[in-house]
Amino acid sequence: MAIVEIRDLVKRYHGHVALDNISLDINEGEIFGLLGPNGAGKSTMINTLCGLLTFDRGSIRIDGLDHRANILEVKKRIGLVPQEIALFNNLTAKDNVKFFAKLAGLRGKLLCERVDEALEFVGLQDKPKALPRGFSGGMKRRLNIACAIAHHPKILIMDEPTVGIDPQSRYHILESVKKLNELGSSIVYTSHYMEEVQSICNSIAIIDHGKLIAQGSTQTLRKLVVEEEKIVIEIVDVNFTSLQGIKRLAGVKEAEVDGGTLEIITRNAQAVLQDVLFVLSQNGVRVKGIKLVEPDLESVFLALTGRNLRDKED
Ligand code: ADP
Repeated sequence: MAIVEIRDLVKRYHGHVALDNISLDINEGEIFGLLGPNGAGKSTMINTLCGLLTFDRGSIRIDGLDHRANILEVKKRIGLVPQEIALFNNLTAKDNVKFFAKLAGLRGKLLCERVDEALEFVGLQDKPKALPRGFSGGMKRRLNIACAIAHHPKILIMDEPTVGIDPQSRYHILESVKKLNELGSSIVYTSHYMEEVQSICNSIAIIDHGKLIAQGSTQTLRKLVVEEEKIVIEIVDVNFTSLQGIKRLAGVKEAEVDGGTLEIITRNAQAVLQDVLFVLSQNGVRVKGIKLVEPDLESVFLALTGRNLRDKED
């Protein structure tokens, strides 16, 4: 079931179209990755979903509720980890979490329990009285996550939560995302790091210049551009005859040897592999290792937009 339904969404900033007629569904229980380069429209989309920005056209339903008609109820169902860390430096770690949990409607014993639980979840249970100004970037980010999850939101929205933090906190955050998802939250995770999206998300949307350019599972998106696969074979002493033999095989587009590595470009690696190994063994070439290389999301993005994911805004 779709927990977020976006239809024909348009958002303009003074005439500049930042979201250009976007329609998409986010299913309950997913870790949904929103991927795009800087300036693609990710933050605009997130802030619109959270009700922090108004939109010009289209509709949004969250957990079955119309966004415009039920914005207060919608906000209770959402936890937001914003791109810019939002904490009160003169409040303790615990009071920061308490503040946001109260805003989301928690009171009394439940409030206290959930605040402790959230601090523990992000690994800050031994720092409840510390002020965030003494925290590292990663610890601030983790505290920000605690503030977003204490009220057990149905949907947790995270806007580039791993930008500019140390590897240990990054690992901690990615593990937390998976754990929160296992505990029942649907997650919307935006990033311009395709490795992250590829490793934790079940479903992905790619946006560029405010337009949805592709949506589906990682596998589906790969298939959009899988025209070529690569077989990489570690070999001992390839000879000219075997290389020519491989080049002549049906299904092989290109084959070349570089040092002890034979690379073959094909449209169907599985089908071609048997024939390649046969030619090599016929010519007495010993094989040390074989790898099939599939395109990753980076190449999907490049194929769909002609631009690299890490390109600057243009
Ligand atoms: P992303 O989060 O993918 O980096 P944004 O949603 O921040 O992208 O920006 C999308 C586009 O909207 C960009 O061209 C950006 O310059 C523009 N934009 C973002 N915020 C504003 C704003 N407050 N006023 C005018 N233009 C904006």
